[in-house]
Amino acid sequence: MNALSHHPPAVRTTCPYCGVGCGLLVASDGLGGAIVSGDPKHPANFGRLCSKGSALGETLGLDTRLLHPMIRGAERNYSRVDWDKALGHVAAGFRTVIERSGADSVAFYLSGQLLTEDYYVANKLMKGFIGTANVDTNSRLCMASSVAGHRRAFGSDTVPGCYEDLDQADLIILVGSNAAWCHPVLFQRMTRNQAERGARLVVIDPRRTATAESADLVLPIAPGMDTALFAGLLVRLADTLALDYSYIDTSTTGFENAIAAARAIAPDLATTARLTGLAAADVVRFFELFQATPRVVTCFSQGVNQSAQGTDKVSAIINCHLATGRIGRPGMGPFSLTGQPNAMGGREVGGLANQLAAHMGFVGEDIDRVRRFWNAPQIATREGLKAVQMFDAIAAGRVKALWVMGTNPAASLPRAGAVAAALKELEFLVVSENVLSNDTVRSGAHVLLPAAAWGEKDGTVTNSERRISRQRAFLPLPGEARPDWWIVSQVAKHMGFADAFAYASVADIFREHAALSAFENSGRRDFDLGALAHISDEQFAALEPVQWPARANEKQRDQRFFAHGGFFTTDRKARFAVLERPALRAPISEAFPFRLNTGRIRDQWHTMTRSGLSPRLAQHLPEPFVEVNPDDAQATGLLDGGFARVTSPFGACVLRVSISPGQQPGSLFAPIHWTGETSSSARVGELVTSETDPHSGQPEAKATPAKIAPIMFAFRGFVLARAPIAMPRETWWAKVAVNGGHGYLFAAERSLQSLRECTPPMFAADADIADYIDEPRGVYRMAAFRSGRLDGCVFIGPASAAPHWNAIVDLFAADALGDVERRILLSGRSVDGFADTGPLVCACFGVGLTAIRNAITSGHASDVEAIGRTLRAGTNCGSCLPELKRIVADARITANV
Ligand code: SF4
Repeated sequence: MNALSHHPPAVRTTCPYCGVGCGLLVASDGLGGAIVSGDPKHPANFGRLCSKGSALGETLGLDTRLLHPMIRGAERNYSRVDWDKALGHVAAGFRTVIERSGADSVAFYLSGQLLTEDYYVANKLMKGFIGTANVDTNSRLCMASSVAGHRRAFGSDTVPGCYEDLDQADLIILVGSNAAWCHPVLFQRMTRNQAERGARLVVIDPRRTATAESADLVLPIAPGMDTALFAGLLVRLADTLALDYSYIDTSTTGFENAIAAARAIAPDLATTARLTGLAAADVVRFFELFQATPRVVTCFSQGVNQSAQGTDKVSAIINCHLATGRIGRPGMGPFSLTGQPNAMGGREVGGLANQLAAHMGFVGEDIDRVRRFWNAPQIATREGLKAVQMFDAIAAGRVKALWVMGTNPAASLPRAGAVAAALKELEFLVVSENVLSNDTVRSGAHVLLPAAAWGEKDGTVTNSERRISRQRAFLPLPGEARPDWWIVSQVAKHMGFADAFAYASVADIFREHAALSAFENSGRRDFDLGALAHISDEQFAALEPVQWPARANEKQRDQRFFAHGGFFTTDRKARFAVLERPALRAPISEAFPFRLNTGRIRDQWHTMTRSGLSPRLAQHLPEPFVEVNPDDAQATGLLDGGFARVTSPFGACVLRVSISPGQQPGSLFAPIHWTGETSSSARVGELVTSETDPHSGQPEAKATPAKIAPIMFAFRGFVLARAPIAMPRETWWAKVAVNGGHGYLFAAERSLQSLRECTPPMFAADADIADYIDEPRGVYRMAAFRSGRLDGCVFIGPASAAPHWNAIVDLFAADALGDVERRILLSGRSVDGFADTGPLVCACFGVGLTAIRNAITSGHASDVEAIGRTLRAGTNCGSCLPELKRIVADARITANV
């Protein structure tokens, strides 16, 4: 454990997960650990946290951490080296490739998890001093289409509104956003508005997610047809004279062409309904709600962005808001919900390959301005390679040296198998990481650099509403870990750029970043932190959350943009977009008749390197799964809880089957979180197509052609172990954190005998082993004890009657077991004797589905509030409230059948 020294009072910092950007208070628990709570003064969350934020204290261990610089030797083994050698090696490696093959033969791949100051320094080194714009980021997979849509309409990457709009709106539309799981604290803000002010909530999503449980209107739109729906809405608004002609005339251009294009796509209600697959009555209701409600906010997220037509989807939404003047005023506007904690900060510094810096682009005036500000010897003069292009260039040998910082492209990029293979071909691969091993590290990194992690880093992040917050360190740097900004600056010095990277502190970088944003700005650019360009170190240390713009000498700040026009185009007018006819790029076929949609689950984040360390979070959905419509399941012979092989033209995964009526026929859904570190066969990124949006370069992660078929296993079971183990070959497995160690859920087609033979090496040689076998029933249980404690166990049963682990996990967490518990553990009656609590629903209070159903059927609880009173479920962070609503609704349906 990375010990938290006493820090009275609590440290104010920011959550490292999603773009809501919740403020946190972190205090010592007196035992070297941390107590994490919501910061009541932070305007993003006012003290609230979701299940992920609440469990952050469980993720501070050092077991998985990379703690020292390492260089790979000729035998592919790593040797620990000191920082000076590592930095010199990195600088020499890049210099050699650049001298031989030119600046465009090298690239950086960054991350929305970096702090703004880390991002700024990396962007400056590559674009200003190495001389190429080959800097891209995993934010390309997250919100690049929103950026492109904003820039196309507004001339700048500006989120016009703020979170208060969600309190003030009378209609909130969520498009392609499972906000209940992916932006839970904001979603609770929306539902509070719904409950207290009567705001209506419309959810537009091909999949019926937890978010839909709270909706007044659910529109299960056909995949990829958001553009058609909003084109139809624009036509309807025009036909009913419900437009703001004054705003259109004074503040926009291009309406005539835009409405003509919208009419070509969705000329009437019938066409809109047909294209979107929605009931005409529902389309009418949606149109009428929009038309009749001036205060409307349209929130959009990955279902819109992660599309080969993502920019058009964003533009279709913005068109409707521009045409009605519903932008930049309280309770109105298009609102991009950012996925990552600091995707916005990355956008500010120019961390995308098609931006230069500080919301300036690759046009002559901007290039010259940034060159002069940086005193840059060889500034990049054209856009670089976007993420998918970058990895294609690596595969083709055009990019020969790559530095990956804080992200895992070998798992998260589309066609991740091909990406991992391409990484192996690089002449020089540098990885700055928190973790000792991940799929990218295992792809053959030549140098590993130990980066500081959340809790150890100091700097700023920007959330979805343009609010900059401080992340503050509350832990010492472990081992030889260093902040990313320090690592990059040191490499820059070794490359001969010492003067431009002579930062003494993160505050120095922030001031320079702020000064660049204000340099020759005078209101010409949206992003301006001039008011913060000269703050002292003490002011930086105490910086309160601040929304931009923060222009110097500005007496009164407007929270919002564009209520009265003032766009950042040459004529200060917004541009309506002319939309293309919506169509899914990759066609389904007889060989691949389904569409695979990918996304997140409630209690995990990205590739689980942090959230996966929390036993509490691991209980919610511990295994990788694929959701299938009941009719499709029947047609393909799939069983709920069974296994399926999902295959696309690019790869295959084996996943547990979850049959769900919320899944449209012909569609599959699989979560993105599992990697080669946490599963045998669930790297879902391997399946995803690399089709990209022509404007944003964002990949289509929601509609890959795929097929699905059942897989049978003879046995299923689980292993609990104190230390990580190597699971037997040819078993399907998924690994999760459990209290006191590691849990492995597995399935196998091998014989019981061969599985038994694999078990003893999993546990300590001096362990006291007890086992139980019932060969005819296909049951085997083995427990290893040391000093009266359960040191590990293996439970195997026939796949049709797989053993449950909930109760055993509790025994594994106990310090010592009594004789009775030891006997019960392995006895034939034991598993029946332990109550199975079912899948976890409430992570805060550890309440399982079985307990909730029992409370309902016994009459102790008939609604969500009563469940809260009886079991406490849903009464803390509220992340499980949508699931509780669904469970109550299902129970009512069952009772009435
Ligand atoms: S909503 Fe949850 S994950 Fe997102 S910032 Fe807040 S606490 Fe963190």
